[in-house]
Amino acid sequence: MEARRVGAAVGLVLVLVLVLAGSGHPGEAPPPSRRFEFAEPHMGTEFRIVLYTADEAVASRASRAAFARIKALDAALTDYDPESELMRLCARAGGPALAVSPDLYRILDRAKALYDRSDGALDVTLAPVVRLWRRARRERKRPDPALLEQARGLAVGCGAIELDPSARTARLLRPRMKIDLGAIAKGYASGEAIAVLKQQGIASALVAGSGDIVVSGPPPGRDGWTIAVAPLLRESDGKPGPTITLRDAAVSTSGDAEQFVEIDGVRYSHVLDPKTGLGLTERRSVTVIAPDGATADGLDTAACVLGPDRGLALIESTPGAAGLFVRLTPQGQEVRQTRGWGRHQSP
Ligand code: ADP
Ligand code: MG
Repeated sequence: MEARRVGAAVGLVLVLVLVLAGSGHPGEAPPPSRRFEFAEPHMGTEFRIVLYTADEAVASRASRAAFARIKALDAALTDYDPESELMRLCARAGGPALAVSPDLYRILDRAKALYDRSDGALDVTLAPVVRLWRRARRERKRPDPALLEQARGLAVGCGAIELDPSARTARLLRPRMKIDLGAIAKGYASGEAIAVLKQQGIASALVAGSGDIVVSGPPPGRDGWTIAVAPLLRESDGKPGPTITLRDAAVSTSGDAEQFVEIDGVRYSHVLDPKTGLGLTERRSVTVIAPDGATADGLDTAACVLGPDRGLALIESTPGAAGLFVRLTPQGQEVRQTRGWGRHQSP
């Protein structure tokens, strides 16, 4: 009964994916550009930037601009600040439409599309339930059943988010409904940071918001960025996960390796099943490669909820996407992948 403990490392940086971004270059003539690395805390985690350029001043100016973009997105999209753009929209739930920024519009549009495609497995209107589970993680207690029922009643699904593309407005149709973008915002932010770095003349960069990574062109003399996917069960067998090579793409990992709570011997993930309102209890980790960060981030959470059959089918039906699904069954660790995965994995 006393054996309640919060999973280690909640809030700790470097979720799930370890970046081995290439250092050292084969061949004699050293390339003109050098590797620079920067890190800053944003969105409740650490964002890292690795980039190649010849000039230190260019590197630091570009990284500052990229971090500023991430910071601005955090300010707009967070649900921790009642004054954020997202929370101002939520405060209007049940009322009139609100003109929103291009970022908020785009991310809501993406969330709605993924909600439809995932049969509701990715549901940003789960916010009231997410909030209860955040408290549950802190207090190491399951949410109160009556409060959970109430919160589930407010999680009305993304059909209740109405978007008007010509006016660029958003309207939340039901009173007291709320939105949480935690499943998709970090991947979106990593992608936007890469776009800023490109504007700043950096063609070869990697941005990682913990497990949500987007890369542009490869490091000098390389085919791509080498990224190690952390294993599902890092605490037990210590076996390394697979390594992938990527350029101009995104990769994102979702699972319970870092963020979970154990209550009365049951381990609940921070990824919730909208059908039950409960954290997933099967140990699962999904890694998705996709053309952009928001898609990779959204798909990994959706696939995690859907399980291997439907999850991998969802990934496979997404243009340019590939995925790896690892779960722990009573028979041991099961690893499955989409057909396109092998193209990225290093031998
Ligand atoms: P990470 O934050 O480790 O990258 P995810 O991308 O899977 O992990 O996002 C998990 C977060 O998304 C949760 O902390 C919560 O805020 C939110 N969330 C949890 N379950 C769902 C779900 N089914 N649909 C949408 N958002 C969810
Ligand atoms: Mg995600």
